[in-house]
Amino acid sequence: MSTNNFPRLRFNFGFLLESSLGTSRVIELDYPTIQVSEDVTLTPLQGRLTATRTSEGVYVNGRFQSAILTECVRCLDETLVPIDIEMDELFYYPPETMPQNEDAFAFDGETGFIDLGPLMRELSLLALPTQPLCRPDCLGLCMECGQNLNEGDCNCQDDDIDPRMAKLRSLLE
Ligand SMILES: [Zn+2]
Ligand SMILES: [Zn+2]
Repeated sequence: MSTNNFPRLRFNFGFLLESSLGTSRVIELDYPTIQVSEDVTLTPLQGRLTATRTSEGVYVNGRFQSAILTECVRCLDETLVPIDIEMDELFYYPPETMPQNEDAFAFDGETGFIDLGPLMRELSLLALPTQPLCRPDCLGLCMECGQNLNEGDCNCQDDDIDPRMAKLRSLLE
């Protein structure tokens, strides 16, 4: 596990271990922007988190609205892509009961804290479309000169283009 450089999604749920089964705690998350890991910043992060004591540990679920800054696949501009994050995770307690499965999380009863940062990072990357676009009709870059066509036409269209090259280009687009 990496060291905790982004502790803002760390919550103390230790008291749940002493509580009766079914006890829950609701936390409203409302961050204008929050960095959850080295490579992921969510802008904003809003939603409701529920942590519930179950016989297997602490079950955490929630639904969050967010957006993530990423590169448009066509024009390569940085763009804020909206995402919906659904969290639905069991933190096993005692930790020894955790299945031998790399996707499983254990609840650290010693500190009583759950760090949702790594999970939030994973879920937000999964929620991100594989082909993020700055806008549905992004015109992309000119394949000849690299001009961002959203910002205006380049002069390449006026050039005499070998018709076979033009055909190839339309196939590539
Ligand atoms: Zn674009
Ligand atoms: Zn061009």
